[in-house]
Amino acid sequence: MLDRAVIDGLFPADLPEPAYWEEQYPQRELAEGAKVTRLGPSPTGFIHIGGIYVGMIDRDIATNTGGAYLVRVEDTDQSREVEGALEQFERGFAYFGIESDEDASKGAYGPYLQSQREQIYLTYVRHLLREGKAYLCFATKEELADITGRQQANKVPTGYYGKWAIWRDASAEDVAAKLAEGAPYVVRFRAPADADGQRARFVDAIRGRLEHEANRNDAVILKASDTSPRLPTYHFAHAVDDHLMRVNLVIRGDEWISSVPLHLQLFAALEFEPIEYAHIAPLMKHIPGGKRKLSKRKDPEAGVDFYIGAGFPADAVLYYLRGLANGRLAEIPLTEALAAPIQLDQCGVAGPLVDLVKLEDISADHIATLSGQQILDAVRVWAATYDAELVPVLAAEPELALRALAVERDGVENPRKDLRKWSDFRDAYGFFFPQLFQLVTGPADERIAALNVAPDVVRAFAQDLVDTYEHRDDPADWFNQLRDLAAKHGFAPNPKEYKKNPDAYPGSIREASQLVRVAITGATRSPDLHATTQALGAEETLRRLKALTN
Ligand code: GLU
Repeated sequence: MLDRAVIDGLFPADLPEPAYWEEQYPQRELAEGAKVTRLGPSPTGFIHIGGIYVGMIDRDIATNTGGAYLVRVEDTDQSREVEGALEQFERGFAYFGIESDEDASKGAYGPYLQSQREQIYLTYVRHLLREGKAYLCFATKEELADITGRQQANKVPTGYYGKWAIWRDASAEDVAAKLAEGAPYVVRFRAPADADGQRARFVDAIRGRLEHEANRNDAVILKASDTSPRLPTYHFAHAVDDHLMRVNLVIRGDEWISSVPLHLQLFAALEFEPIEYAHIAPLMKHIPGGKRKLSKRKDPEAGVDFYIGAGFPADAVLYYLRGLANGRLAEIPLTEALAAPIQLDQCGVAGPLVDLVKLEDISADHIATLSGQQILDAVRVWAATYDAELVPVLAAEPELALRALAVERDGVENPRKDLRKWSDFRDAYGFFFPQLFQLVTGPADERIAALNVAPDVVRAFAQDLVDTYEHRDDPADWFNQLRDLAAKHGFAPNPKEYKKNPDAYPGSIREASQLVRVAITGATRSPDLHATTQALGAEETLRRLKALTN
């Protein structure tokens, strides 16, 4: 074992002792059963929808038990840090209402960025070194690769353990010589010597009792000494941070289950109380012939900005995610499901499939329950970031927007489900706005041509309509003027008659109304035509009809 003086010489002289941090971060005063949870996003990329999924569960459990939920930014891999990631975290958490209860401005357990916790980690690394529970390892990349190669050739498990762990039992002289050379080193945890053949047993809040081979690998706990700041590995930071932040329920992805045996050894070595774990199954994607984890690299829908940018209402996404976490929540209405607590023991152990079609349906159903005003407000907030052209249009004509949204929405039993997300607004309602009409519909000529009505009949019919148009309130009255006019211009009264004798008519009432529909809405499918003209007003309706006369 190294001399204490040698060990201490590796650290700042004023580095506090563990007792200092213990005092600095006292036990929380918690009611019985209160859970302190945390999310540990790494700014090595943009946040995954799976991060929101886990954060939602963290947030829910903390709130429902009267505990606290915190976000700890796990930025120990500084070489892989992505610019703008932190801002994107903030945006994602704010959108989905899973902001941290604690941060630099309001929290007694910070800093909440691992890169700012160097002193804390170093205290505990020094402590383990002094106790002989950790050691310096000077193995070079080449040596490590060589060890792995020989292990593979010998068909034994790869890793840094037992006789392969060349610095585990190095003499003080060898270590001193390396230090004198200024050789870089990492600090490794000394896996308990009796770990071989032992089993690690623990209870997972989702999976129940689990058992794994005990860890015998001498995991790196502090990264290379020639980097600054000197940061720990995930494993060590997890133990130190979750202990000192007084987290009592670690909810994390199930890729960490296999690390629990190491984590339990670290907690024991550090003399920390072990923490309860809940390992969440990952969100999956359906692919031909099976499924795989939703991948940030391959699937745009894995990123949170996909949902925010498209303008899926947060409540719809949360409702969907809650249903994935606890199947029973998918069976109850949204408002109830958002308020009902998520139960860890009802989370599945197989990853749930993310089905965007399902999400769109849920979202359309949800939006259909909102008022025109609520929709308009949300679309405006969304457009402020994602559709600069829409912003002035909505600002200039909020009344028109509300009238448009009221079509087949207000006072009807089954409102239109034409919006699945806010970005659908332009396609579904853009035609109402004179400024956007041509932009969203494009030229109507082709659609009119497809109706196969002779152009001179179209013009004559349209001219007559423009000359005699009455902007009638009553839908039947309004439609009757079209019917009468169509009859006057020789259109068959119904498609059946027309079909029987196509040469006798220029078209049927169906074609005649489609002409009007295309002129007014730019499309052959639209919301109720009469209601649409009411929303547009007489002047704009006429203006659009006039276009048919050219
Ligand atoms: N930074 C880790 C990750 O992104 C956090 C895991 C945890 O929650 O402990 O996977």
